[in-house]
Amino acid sequence: MRTDQDQPVRLADYQPPSWLVETVDLDVSLHATATCVRATLKLKPNPKTGAPAPVTLDGDGLTLKSVKLDGAELSPESFTATPDRLSIPQPPNRPFVLEIETLVDPTANTQLSGLYRAGATYCTQCEAEGFRRITYFPDRPDVMAVYTTRVEAEKAEAPVLLANGNLVAAGDIAGTTRHFAQWHDPFPKPSYLFALVGGDLGFVEDTFTTMSGRKVVLRVYVEPGKESRADFALEALKRAMRWDEQVFGREYDLDIFMIVAVSAFNMGAMENKGLNVFNDKYVLATPETATDADYASIDAIIAHEYFHNWTGNRITCRDWFQLCLKEGLTVFRDQEYTADHRSRPVKRISDVRVLRLHQFVEDAGPLAHPVRPEAYREINNFYTATVYEKGAEIVRMLKTLLGPDGFRKGMDLYFERHDGEAATVEQFVQCFADAAKTDLGQFMRWYRQAGTPEVAVTVSHDAKAKTCTLEIAQTLRPTPGQPSKEPMVIPLAIGLIGADGRDLPLAPTDGKPVERGVLVLTNSSERFVFSNVTARPVPSLNRSFSAPINLNANLTADDLRFLAARDSDPFNRWQALQTLASKLLTDNVRAVRAGGAMREDPGLIAALGSVLADTNLEPAFVAQALTVPAEADIARELGQDVDPDAIFAARAALRAAIGDALGPALRDTYRRMTDEGPYSPDAASAGRRSLKNVCLDLLAAAGGAAAIALAARQYQAASNMTDRMAAISTLSLHAVRERQAAIDDFYRRYESDPLVIDKWFVLQAAIPETRTLDRVRELTRHPAFSFDNPNRIRALIGAFAQSNQTQFNRSDGAGYVFLADTLLALDAKNPQVASRLMTAFKSWRALEAGRRAKAQAELARVRAAPSLSTDVRDIVERSLAEG
Ligand SMILES: [Zn+2]
Repeated sequence: MRTDQDQPVRLADYQPPSWLVETVDLDVSLHATATCVRATLKLKPNPKTGAPAPVTLDGDGLTLKSVKLDGAELSPESFTATPDRLSIPQPPNRPFVLEIETLVDPTANTQLSGLYRAGATYCTQCEAEGFRRITYFPDRPDVMAVYTTRVEAEKAEAPVLLANGNLVAAGDIAGTTRHFAQWHDPFPKPSYLFALVGGDLGFVEDTFTTMSGRKVVLRVYVEPGKESRADFALEALKRAMRWDEQVFGREYDLDIFMIVAVSAFNMGAMENKGLNVFNDKYVLATPETATDADYASIDAIIAHEYFHNWTGNRITCRDWFQLCLKEGLTVFRDQEYTADHRSRPVKRISDVRVLRLHQFVEDAGPLAHPVRPEAYREINNFYTATVYEKGAEIVRMLKTLLGPDGFRKGMDLYFERHDGEAATVEQFVQCFADAAKTDLGQFMRWYRQAGTPEVAVTVSHDAKAKTCTLEIAQTLRPTPGQPSKEPMVIPLAIGLIGADGRDLPLAPTDGKPVERGVLVLTNSSERFVFSNVTARPVPSLNRSFSAPINLNANLTADDLRFLAARDSDPFNRWQALQTLASKLLTDNVRAVRAGGAMREDPGLIAALGSVLADTNLEPAFVAQALTVPAEADIARELGQDVDPDAIFAARAALRAAIGDALGPALRDTYRRMTDEGPYSPDAASAGRRSLKNVCLDLLAAAGGAAAIALAARQYQAASNMTDRMAAISTLSLHAVRERQAAIDDFYRRYESDPLVIDKWFVLQAAIPETRTLDRVRELTRHPAFSFDNPNRIRALIGAFAQSNQTQFNRSDGAGYVFLADTLLALDAKNPQVASRLMTAFKSWRALEAGRRAKAQAELARVRAAPSLSTDVRDIVERSLAEG
């Protein structure tokens, strides 16, 4: 356990390293419980920091065997070593070589950080601070070194030995049953990008010829026997490599690019240089075991990690405060990759759904923090929706403000200026300012100020003057540590739509052109007047969600239905329907809370019916339009006095009303969207399946045995996991006999396939009925469940706490007690996963008084527990902090 984490690390305290590391030679002799690591570091004083300083190397739970300086054993009085630190107070003031030998136990490493065993495979995870669990090192991203790694192991146990870079030597070790492989990575990199893998692995292979004509070997390693499940990942990798050349001019740089799928992994995947390590969930796919959503995730995550080779690896972060520099930017890049390969509008809608569900909720609660935080106690807790998803929105706004050409010029300058460096957010933004010759000083507030801006728009029309006026005001509420805020730069893409559905030319009375249809707000309130507007237009605001804001405009229900039917911006067609549904749902939740009756909105249902009937629309878009706001969306809209049971009731009533009113059209669409041919994961086919399955779900929501029978038939007859999973998910929402039959059948079919059994856990954890908590408790004792595997924990406990709003938030508080008990038991074993579970409490302050008190009591109980990890302590203290 680290002891120096009680004081937060602050951005303002940043100091450059006093010692640099030129080269690292690692010699790792793998052994299940006693792996020997010999590290040879060429250290030199940092010429930029001047005065000679002690050498202080980070460690975490290390056992030191020996340490030598320039080949001579260090005398005991010339250094101090603890499991967490190796210090040489008076090193020579010149370059020297330090040889350190440590012993680590991969089998005992249940934190899955550093070197550990995932099943029988040795692997590493070093971001953010795992390298210090392998050897003593200045474990900070601004120390970039050239690594050579020799790995050796028993041939029988680990026939495959991998590390970063290119293979330079391999062979048997004479007279033993062991062998070795030596890898060299010529590109200087920070320690968090180090990786090695050893195990009995199969692989699929291909080659890729880069735009300059270099041939690169591509390999995806998996457990033997699962090779055929890796084909889709390999295809995705090639697509991503080509796309990065075409869209960003970035070419791959080593002779080989490897991906390894492992079964026990704390996160999704890791972009180690030339050797990406993946949670196998994001590699393995067949039509029988993976859904369309799984295929889409694999495609996006393979691309994301590959894109890091330039945004993260070649140019890395100066310190962990700059995490968004690599993550926000790379998420933006993977979003664009998906938009170019699938449907751009549908991708935008689903990204905004995710942003609102996770990031907006985070921004509105006690865990709100700026995209670039200014202090942290545990960096692992800042791999958040804010850093990733809002970070991507900031990059998107830069593109909106500067236009595609200006954006590309800024990116090119960034690659040219900072290749091989550890950079900051300021340096990144400066490249765009320099390329476009503009000032982005105020824009930097997006990185510094937490919270979601509220933008109010009042539209008025003057028939006599033929003008349309938009009065726009922005506010940003206080967030933890930031009581007052300054106005943001908000790019607001707009259109004024005439009665014929066409956009009117935007002619501002002040003569300043509106470039690319984007108004740029910089003050807390502004006024824009447009001339030559004869009749009142309907404004379409924040098109394509050009800024990550909450928008409030004085639009009528008629305006919204008009936008839903006529807007040339597909995002805003979808948004108009969501706004209408959201208004209805929040009104009805308040009515239920007050003991009143719910109202209906026939206009909304008619608008949904028109979308369903419009065969010119992409099926995936129609599916999105028919999906009503999630329970967490409604809770966020309400903001306070949140009663999950009332939300559930209002949402169920709306879904039933849609299913009831549009029954014939839903049945007809269900039939039209049913494909008989072989399965293909392409976007168009996936879109047809998603619309078909949304229709099924709405029909079942309306009640009636026919829809349940249809779902049960689809479950049995399905030729792919998407249709089977959709059918059983629909059944799971209804207390019918077919549900348990399907759940039992599902287990029998897939019991030997852990990734599919995860879906079985998720399904049962998400059932919205009182018995679910007992069911989840029982399932923690099921032979297929294990607290050693993060995927199992996320599937059962994570799904219960994060997606089952009514049962996690039971009014008797039992859901909170269960989660607190579970994460306290898990904390000693895997603090990263435990603290992730804890974030399920992130909206506790918005709950109605009864639940709020019960949640607070459980948070207080966690805080009072002895020997908490820094991960959990940090989350619980921030969750409970006042203001
Ligand atoms: Zn990433």
